[in-house]
Amino acid sequence: MTTAPAAPSSPHVMNTYGRLPIALSHGQGCRVWDVNGREYLDALGGIAVNTLGHNHPQLVAALQDQVTKLIHTSNYYHIPLQEELARLLVERSGMTNVFFCSTGLEANEAALKLARKFGHDKGIERPEIVVYEKAFHGRSIATLSATGNPKVQAGFGPLVEGFIRVPINSIEQLKAATANNPNVVAVFLEAIQGEGGVNPMHMDYLRDVRALCDERDWLLMIDEVQCGMGRTGKWFAHQWAGIQPDVMPLAKGLSSGVPVGAVVAGPKAASIFAPGNHGSTFGGNPLAMRAGVETIRIMEAQGLLANAATVGAHLKAALERALAAELASGAVKEIRGMGLMLGIELAKPCSALVQRAADAGLLISVTADSVVRLVPSLILTVAEADQIVAILCPLIQTLLKETA
Ligand SMILES: *Cc1c(COP(=O)(O)O)cnc(C)c1O
Repeated sequence: MTTAPAAPSSPHVMNTYGRLPIALSHGQGCRVWDVNGREYLDALGGIAVNTLGHNHPQLVAALQDQVTKLIHTSNYYHIPLQEELARLLVERSGMTNVFFCSTGLEANEAALKLARKFGHDKGIERPEIVVYEKAFHGRSIATLSATGNPKVQAGFGPLVEGFIRVPINSIEQLKAATANNPNVVAVFLEAIQGEGGVNPMHMDYLRDVRALCDERDWLLMIDEVQCGMGRTGKWFAHQWAGIQPDVMPLAKGLSSGVPVGAVVAGPKAASIFAPGNHGSTFGGNPLAMRAGVETIRIMEAQGLLANAATVGAHLKAALERALAAELASGAVKEIRGMGLMLGIELAKPCSALVQRAADAGLLISVTADSVVRLVPSLILTVAEADQIVAILCPLIQTLLKETA
């Protein structure tokens, strides 16, 4: 078996992704078919985007209805669907106000601007924001500067200044890195790091960071772009810790595949922006908002939070059983994550698994070189979870036996 060729797929598309030699044509639920009619079980969900799977009848009908009414207007006018999605997000997060944009990095840019203006408003001229090792926040100049991955940053210096980097899950190192620094304005973290290798923040750590932010008057900003929108079995992953952030960027799963981003703010951050401070042409347009509203309604009608929790727990336990010997020997280092956001860390690089799994009819991704990432649609069934295990685990075992 071979690994994916790095060749560009077209002389006209800019060569930014190492693509598999597969072109998908259509999908149904957690299954997709390529242009040659081959079927795949989709355990990637468009990278945690396709919350409702493919071709969900209610979502399709709602979007068909919406395109006949309005696709886009402008934020120069009131947009009732935007007000409705904002209300749904506020009710489910316990926060107060929402800004809409179109992508994850754009949501994070807004969060970074909120933090800086929060500082300026209280007389801090050179605000600094705490960020994390292995973090991923996007690929704009500011968000790649906040990202903790040298590969993402290489070639794009000078980076944006004003970031302090710490390791995850150590309140002592966070305190040490910020000691006697009056310029700190915010702590910016993913409740479960996604691209960095599915690394969860400990619940105690999240509570300790919340307490420290309160004590020091910093904003707690939790990037829920990947781990939010029901993926862990609660609306937002930080809710497992019983805390609330001041700022919460969202994107990926929020509108089931229609491009969208959002920044949800609590009382401490809700009034930082005034007219003229921030904006987005596409942000919050009727099509994306309708998709978000319908996604949330369908998730609740179908009980998809509970499904993510129970099918995710089943999948994790089944992976642990199937890879018990490899876990015992250390060849599989850890299986971690919550709900339908799982990572299987191997003791060796494993990006070859992506093509091999596709050859066997399964779509997955590998992140941080050695972590198999599973972020399927939240409609995944127990039978589909079992099928993931049945296809994936033998491939992992074969790869582990090969000498590099
Ligand atoms: C994907 C991701 C982003 C970036 O989202 P884009 O829509 O690709 O800009 C930011 N933060 C996290 C945690 C992500 O997983």
